[in-house]
Amino acid sequence: MSNPKVGFISLGCPKALVDSEQILTRLRSEGYLVSPNYQESDLVVVNTCGFIDAAVEESLDSIGEALAENGKVIVTGCLGARQDEILARHPQVLKITGAHATDEVVDAVHEHLPPAHNPFTSLIPPQGIKLTPQHYAYLKISEGCNHRCSFCIIPSMRGDLVSRPVDDVLQEAEKLAEAGVKELLVVSQDTSAYGLDLRYQSRRWRGREVSSRFYDLAAALGELGIWVRMHYVYPYPHVDEVVSLMAEGKVLPYLDIPFQHADSRILKLMKRPAAAENNLQRIKTWREICPDMTIRSTFIVGFPGETEQEFESLLEFLSEAQMDRVGCFAYSPVKGAAANQFADPVPEQLKQERLERFMAHQAQISADRLQKRVGKTEMVLVDEVVEEGAVARSKADAPEIDGQVFIDGATHLRVGDFVEVELEEADEHDLWARCTSA
Ligand code: SF4
Repeated sequence: MSNPKVGFISLGCPKALVDSEQILTRLRSEGYLVSPNYQESDLVVVNTCGFIDAAVEESLDSIGEALAENGKVIVTGCLGARQDEILARHPQVLKITGAHATDEVVDAVHEHLPPAHNPFTSLIPPQGIKLTPQHYAYLKISEGCNHRCSFCIIPSMRGDLVSRPVDDVLQEAEKLAEAGVKELLVVSQDTSAYGLDLRYQSRRWRGREVSSRFYDLAAALGELGIWVRMHYVYPYPHVDEVVSLMAEGKVLPYLDIPFQHADSRILKLMKRPAAAENNLQRIKTWREICPDMTIRSTFIVGFPGETEQEFESLLEFLSEAQMDRVGCFAYSPVKGAAANQFADPVPEQLKQERLERFMAHQAQISADRLQKRVGKTEMVLVDEVVEEGAVARSKADAPEIDGQVFIDGATHLRVGDFVEVELEEADEHDLWARCTSA
């Protein structure tokens, strides 16, 4: 009997990608094969995203395409929380689950496509199936979120914070490092809140007790001797301790910290975590502790009620904060979000104008900061080798979202190599360099 084949479409953020990896790992361990096209698949799983309306549409279209091309479709992921909407458009789907529902998805696959027992195909790698390149991997440390930001519906889809036990996370990280992963990207909805729901319970790892606190987890990951990059951190005072680990070279001097706005009234309306913190002061403190730190953030302009003065205070914040990498969205209402009911929505054209002003303002700051690195020697990690040379990333660049370092002519390098380079040129986003090591 041949092994049943499952097609898989993974949409959405890195947290959803990790869910996909977990489902695929389970399916592969049970002898299912993963097929790259609809025709050869016996069934298709679509892991959806429901973050903004465009993502909802993309998810619904993908379900429709999978139904048209294959016919047997199981839906999982964030959009699964909105069953009625999916069923209204696609009543033929076999099963709908919410996000982070590996057991339910696997049960549904069993029901509609029973596994064929084959002991050889259960020999999967110990680190599980990964959808990222071999040299980096996302490490999801918790699921859900205790905050209730007024523009976001993630807690209604993914529930409250549920942290993974610290030994479980560290064992996974160890397996990944042993399998050749060179960079771990720590993800969650709120990384700085890690362990709160576990009351910071300790577990044994490498013969000692490790607490499930953000700092202790970061310090333990730092022992693995590979790059560890922190995403989705909020500006709480206890983050200072983790910045000290960055200064000591234990984890990468990089913080992905979604501020979303700078004005205190808007932050309160947004119900942002740590809205009462003085973020400029926090950034100043972090830079005192770790002068080489890269800060990446995202912002929303045109939030309901945002005045011209409040928007300008955001631009001033950018000038003061001097962040390296910044993304920005014009506010768009998400079905079910509290902010949809707020007074004084900003007209669409004004939102777009503010978005453009914001991006132009920050582009200059980002370009100036990159320019200051020209002439320095830095360690980079090779992502790709092409005909013209190698494409790498520095400590300041997360994959997919930040810039790249191009090393012309360095075709002798291999993906996953760490190499020392001298930075020679910069534009507003990327760098060009030459190898200084052999
Ligand atoms: S912190 Fe706010 S934006 Fe982030 S997932 Fe939680 S509720 Fe949503």
